[in-house]
Amino acid sequence: MSLGIRRVRVGAAEFGGSYPVIIAGPCSVENAEMIREVAFSVKASGAGLLRGGTWKPRTSPYSFQGLGVEGLAMLKGAGNDAGLPVVSEVLSVEQLETALDYLDMIQVGARNMHNFILLTEIGRCGKPVLLKRGFMATIEEWLLAAEYILKEGNESVVLCERGIRTFEPWTRSTLDISAVPLARQSSSLPVIVDPCHAAGRRDIIMSLAMASLGAGADGLMIEVHPDPDKALSDGGQSLNLTEFNVLTRAVQAYGWPPERFC
Ligand code: PEP
Ligand code: MN
Repeated sequence: MSLGIRRVRVGAAEFGGSYPVIIAGPCSVENAEMIREVAFSVKASGAGLLRGGTWKPRTSPYSFQGLGVEGLAMLKGAGNDAGLPVVSEVLSVEQLETALDYLDMIQVGARNMHNFILLTEIGRCGKPVLLKRGFMATIEEWLLAAEYILKEGNESVVLCERGIRTFEPWTRSTLDISAVPLARQSSSLPVIVDPCHAAGRRDIIMSLAMASLGAGADGLMIEVHPDPDKALSDGGQSLNLTEFNVLTRAVQAYGWPPERFC
């Protein structure tokens, strides 16, 4: 058990408890059928939350931008039917207001970690928050971003390490494994890891996921798509439904609760 770590409940999932929570789902909600298929499959494999982006912060404005509110309704419907709470990213205060009707947890993406106006509003929204680390942010800056939310009275904050930008080109970002024990011991907030956006490639996701749990992570966020090669975003770093099942079985076999060294 993680002594001194705050527990954050989202539906039946509990971050910072004895077992790691796995958030799973596609990078983007593409249509109602696919998000439903993913929801039922990842639930059967042991996921605790369903993810799916509907407002996508894409590097290029010409890339698929997501289905917006329509996608949120699909995500919520799939989560309800499969029995999973849902999380998705909002990019602005306006989107936050709309999203509150659909989401169980609000995600702040890496690109918005420094958006202090959004963080402050999220601090007042009364929903659990998943705060991703900016890819150019130090651990201290990340923890101070969390303070913007906590300061408004919202104590349900989960941190997510998702890789930082370095000189290494073989991965999209470099997973900063040190951030897991350091953020946990410095903040008392649960810390999960998103190895998919860190790696940008699916062949090392399993290794990074297990390393994260070995470092004491309270959970994982994994991108899952029924047919990753046809995904509208981030297919190269997504697992298919079978691969996700293999990952969850490896996590279950790992021997929980894990020994933590700090
Ligand atoms: C995401 O999780 O959908 C995402 C865009 O990740 P990040 O903000 O970490 O790049
Ligand atoms: Mn993605």
